[in-house]
Amino acid sequence: MLRFFALLALCTFAQCCPTILTKSQWGGRAPSCRSAMVTPVSYVVIHHTEGNDCFSRAICTTQAKSIQSYHMDGNGWCDIGYNFLVGGDGFIYEGRGWTTIGAHSPIYNPISIGIGFIGSFTSSNPTIAAQNAAKSLISCGVSRGYIKPSYILKGHRNTAATDCPGNTFYNTIRTWPRFQA
Ligand SMILES: [Zn+2]
Repeated sequence: MLRFFALLALCTFAQCCPTILTKSQWGGRAPSCRSAMVTPVSYVVIHHTEGNDCFSRAICTTQAKSIQSYHMDGNGWCDIGYNFLVGGDGFIYEGRGWTTIGAHSPIYNPISIGIGFIGSFTSSNPTIAAQNAAKSLISCGVSRGYIKPSYILKGHRNTAATDCPGNTFYNTIRTWPRFQA
């Protein structure tokens, strides 16, 4: 019982937010441009990055940097496409953040938070730590007023012709709160 109240208190003070590593904490680059997003948004869109997965902060940081370089230098985008990345290590890596329009799901970009799980999840799921971190991130966004409490959760494939976020993981997020194909 005491433990329950202690957790409840922690949750209130921290607004149930997971550890979010800021761009500067993971060594990400500053954006070359940005468009402000009107919040709270109505949607959360889940992705996989389709590259290698990672299970340590060191490797996840390397992956995040490589994804950002690909998006900025390869695609010519302002910044990494996702609002947030989630590593198999259970850390959230800040991308464009809560208040900047992402580049992850055309049409949905200005009205959603795009969360990219580092790795390919066609035949396996992200770690439980990663899944819990993302669920906590969504609750955090709702409690901080960046995501509507009535938000709808979608997989990228529900918004465009793509396999993202991978068959196995897609079947998992279909069981998450507020999912709607
Ligand atoms: Zn995607």
